[in-house]
Amino acid sequence: IIQLYVPLNWFGTYYRAIQKNFVDMENMFDLLREEQEIIDAPGAGPLAVKRGAVEFNNVTFGYLPERLILKNVTFSVPSGKTVALVGPSGSGKSTIIRLLFRFYDVETGSIVIDGQNIKTITQESLRRSIGVVPQDTVLFNNTIKYNIKYGRLTADDSEVIDAAGGADIHAKILTFPEGYDTQVGERGLRLSGGEKQRVAIARTLLKAPNIILLDEATSALDTQTERNIQESLERMCTNRTTIIVAHRLSTIIHADEILVIKDGEIVERGRHEHLIGHEGVYANMWRQQLESKDAPSSAENSLEKS
Ligand code: ATP
Repeated sequence: IIQLYVPLNWFGTYYRAIQKNFVDMENMFDLLREEQEIIDAPGAGPLAVKRGAVEFNNVTFGYLPERLILKNVTFSVPSGKTVALVGPSGSGKSTIIRLLFRFYDVETGSIVIDGQNIKTITQESLRRSIGVVPQDTVLFNNTIKYNIKYGRLTADDSEVIDAAGGADIHAKILTFPEGYDTQVGERGLRLSGGEKQRVAIARTLLKAPNIILLDEATSALDTQTERNIQESLERMCTNRTTIIVAHRLSTIIHADEILVIKDGEIVERGRHEHLIGHEGVYANMWRQQLESKDAPSSAENSLEKS
């Protein structure tokens, strides 16, 4: 028991120290290679990715046995579609994302990608087909080129430049003292929140996964930056199966389905227009956001897009 408890506990502390909401999971697995709790099933083969359809079937899960965090969560994301998760803090949104990345195993129920239960395939192949764009990207103390290339280490320079272009950060990198060879991170050039997000987008473009998990930033970027990033994100997610943890409802008006999570359960689901049409949790959240201090940009966005 002690042996199991100590690494978990250490992990929890480390995890919270790095990120509040949704860890930079792709990095974490490299950092924590020796601490993995989840092991591949004997004889597990690689995920045969077809089109990236995701299904949660009656998923129940708790971090600790005595406290269930997700209860009977069932939804599916058809390939190329976008599902958004919204709900109060602590309701279980990030947990859904962590389970799909197989950070933990479900207690009951199953998570299935293209017909394959993720418990039966190798973790390496699972994580190779999923791109994660966290709120806050952890940069390596290395060059900006390496930091982008991390999405696919075999990529060549021209592919790195293309990905940077797609994430709208190429021109910015050219202004850095040594261009793509500029050292970034704690011991190098510090990048702004928006720039780090662009690095995450570039990494993901390079990885070219069928499935994207996106944690929308809560931190305020200025409106113009915000809009530009939103555009890059939308381009990246087009025709890719996407699950987004959304904080600003104005960004998910066009999601194919919105799941409202409360206390670990899906309490409402449907498209934006459907959900605001009936008095419920979502309609309330929408009203609150319109009234809050973000109102100008939310209201503007919603008028613009609807
Ligand atoms: P937020 O919007 O604030 O990010 P969320 O909806 O993503 O919240 P989760 O991070 O999924 O919520 O957390 C759901 C619940 O699980 C919370 O009560 C949280 O305290 C608990 N929890 C999260 N991670 C752990 C962990 N490693 N160990 C134990 N409990 C955890």
